[in-house]
Amino acid sequence: MDILNYEKYLEFIMDYINQKFEVQKEYIKCAKGCALCCKTIGVPFSELEFEYLIEGYNQLDDETKSIVDSKIKQLVSGNCEKECPFLINNICSVYKYRGIICRTFGLLTFSNIDGKDEYNIPFCVHKGLNYASVYDEETNSISSEKVTELNYKEEPKFYALDRSILFNLKLVRDLGLDFGVSRRLIDWLKDFENKREK
Ligand code: SF4
Ligand code: SF4
Repeated sequence: MDILNYEKYLEFIMDYINQKFEVQKEYIKCAKGCALCCKTIGVPFSELEFEYLIEGYNQLDDETKSIVDSKIKQLVSGNCEKECPFLINNICSVYKYRGIICRTFGLLTFSNIDGKDEYNIPFCVHKGLNYASVYDEETNSISSEKVTELNYKEEPKFYALDRSILFNLKLVRDLGLDFGVSRRLIDWLKDFENKREK
């Protein structure tokens, strides 16, 4: 993989993502140790992202690697809590190398797939976390009335941060990046584990 170009791409999108977190900070509850969003194994990773994640795994010290190894084994054999095996004590052990979806967790995002707009509210709104104070359960939407009532300075905004959009930026072509196919993290890890056992 072309690590240098992928890291240039990450630097660019992280500037954009961090700006959005800053603008929306009144609604954001993300803090070190909150890792509910890492406790699903359904997160999608493209081939390029997974290769980069494994770069991070290769950099881990032996002790951490062996914890991750045992969590991967338990995960792929279906014997563990459904959480990302790179999560240790509620902290990502490969933070620099995490996937794109891990970087956008927590913001309101939208996508346009086949001409259809989709608006995504972080699932942790249901846990009283991001955007919960302005969420309307009945309509499953952000309530402008609550935003006004509670005197927020910024409007909640949906950002074009869906992977389908981020993978198709002009920069991706300029840097010659190829994300390859996308699969659930657990499926990549099953192959990774099988290859190691051979
Ligand atoms: S996105 Fe939600 S679950 Fe994830 S760290 Fe932020 S507040 Fe916690
Ligand atoms: S790679 Fe890190 S940030 Fe992403 S789901 Fe796993 S533990 Fe969470």
